[in-house]
Amino acid sequence: MSAHTPIVYLHGVFMPIDQAHIPVLDRGFIFGDGVYEVIPVYSRRPFRLQEHVRRLQHSLDGIRLKNPHTDAEWTDLITQLIARNDGEDQSVYMQITRGVAKRDHAFPVGVKPTIFMMSSPMTVPTAELRATGVGAITATDNRWLRCDIKATSLLPNVLLRQLAVDAGAMEVVLLRELAKPPGRYLTEGAASNIFVVQNGTLLAPPKDHLMLPGITYDVVIELAVANNIRCEVRLVSEHEVRTAQELWQTSSLREVMPITALDGKPVGDGKPGPLFKKMYTFYQDYKQAVRAGKG
Ligand code: PMP
Repeated sequence: MSAHTPIVYLHGVFMPIDQAHIPVLDRGFIFGDGVYEVIPVYSRRPFRLQEHVRRLQHSLDGIRLKNPHTDAEWTDLITQLIARNDGEDQSVYMQITRGVAKRDHAFPVGVKPTIFMMSSPMTVPTAELRATGVGAITATDNRWLRCDIKATSLLPNVLLRQLAVDAGAMEVVLLRELAKPPGRYLTEGAASNIFVVQNGTLLAPPKDHLMLPGITYDVVIELAVANNIRCEVRLVSEHEVRTAQELWQTSSLREVMPITALDGKPVGDGKPGPLFKKMYTFYQDYKQAVRAGKG
């Protein structure tokens, strides 16, 4: 844990977290009317900053909220936040809501968005957990049709994730019924992207409106291509998920994590697979390069 009180950014100023308050009529509180980003920081260097800022723009466009800052301003704010907080490795959280206004669903006019940013110590899963892998369950993806927007209204994700916790598992692998082509297909996890290994080939669902375009997802695909791992980005059927030799979850905080049990049954031989081990090495090497400023 950080030795000092975390410093956050709110309403245009940096302040200790215990002094940060928002009015109850903030639309983030009332409607979940906002978007967010989570950016890992290694050795005080933000990981894939440009990509995160670009995804933030995509989310803002998705909810029709004007970006309150230029890319250069965001970079400056994030740099300042990292510098004001303890820890070489941090996790930066930033959220923008449509601001404070009388409760009415329609967009308010002339209201300033609320910008909140905080940094927490970065905690990656333990080596023990990565050595055994985690359990997951499957569930029907019952979310809306704009899962590409990183919206703060996460109630479906919260409920889905709790299903996993209740089952003693770490993640929910979401399957969605599609009309064309008919069948149930993999979308993502409640808080991560999901990869499938079938016959030595890495399969990943396409980045469309049914999943969050993960920054880690992109890194994993780039590393696969760079290291001659066969990789196919296409619809992945429920059957392919259930008969996978390996399943991985990816996210900024979990990095690449093997899922070794699905719905109580072992995935492959129930241990982290050979392709995961390769990918994890490539990922760690990449992280080292980021730490050295060469990412
Ligand atoms: N999908 C969902 C629903 C998520 O919440 C996350 C993590 N925020 C991801 C995918 C992974 O995205 P990233 O690799 O950018 O953390």
